[in-house]
Amino acid sequence: MGMKIAIDGPAGSGKSTVAKLLAKRLGFEYVDTGAMYRAIAWKAFRSGYSPNDRPGISKIIESTTFSLKNNQLFMDGSPIGDEIRTSEISMLSSAIAKIPEVRAFLTEEQRKLAANRDVVMEGRDIGTVVLPDAEYKFFIKASAEERAKRRLSQLKEIGIDAEYETILKEIVARDINDSSRDIAPLKPADDAIVIDTTDMPLEEVINYILKRMGI
Ligand code: C5P
Repeated sequence: MGMKIAIDGPAGSGKSTVAKLLAKRLGFEYVDTGAMYRAIAWKAFRSGYSPNDRPGISKIIESTTFSLKNNQLFMDGSPIGDEIRTSEISMLSSAIAKIPEVRAFLTEEQRKLAANRDVVMEGRDIGTVVLPDAEYKFFIKASAEERAKRRLSQLKEIGIDAEYETILKEIVARDINDSSRDIAPLKPADDAIVIDTTDMPLEEVINYILKRMGI
């Protein structure tokens, strides 16, 4: 069966950093489900399909496979890299994430990836939809300004230059998109532990999570 830990939260909340570190500490596999939405958006973009082109998006889904090895996600056999991290793909991924067919496909793929493994899986709807029976659910939040700052430094690390104001606007736009959609809107599961990390250093967040897990 394996133990499942769900980490959800809005864009730039630091959930990826927390989930990665937690997985490392526990020796669990780490799965970034946002990367799967981004990878589909990237593939659609490369094929010249807009998020409104439903037949085009359906074609993409039918021909896509995902796999996971040593914390690395693969799409169609190739490792998913930093090409999916641009602002353009961020906005496109948020748009395609509203399409029911995309969500159904990725939810199924994510459950398959989590099956028979110990995983820390992060995203927007892991505790509510993908793994409702997860042993532990955490919802990581922070102010939009703090999240924009964190996103900016993450992007810098991978060599992408961006403006604070642009990132802040993008984060607020994605918050609205992600929380107002009809299916799987971004919200904490009823049984999730909500952590506001605005003024919390990373190490403190990890220690708090481990404590709540009784470790
Ligand atoms: O986490 P990240 O910012 O990389 O996710 C990109 C986009 O994918 C989000 O804005 C959201 O619209 C979508 N997403 C989702 N459900 C998930 C993970 C990501 O809808 N479980």
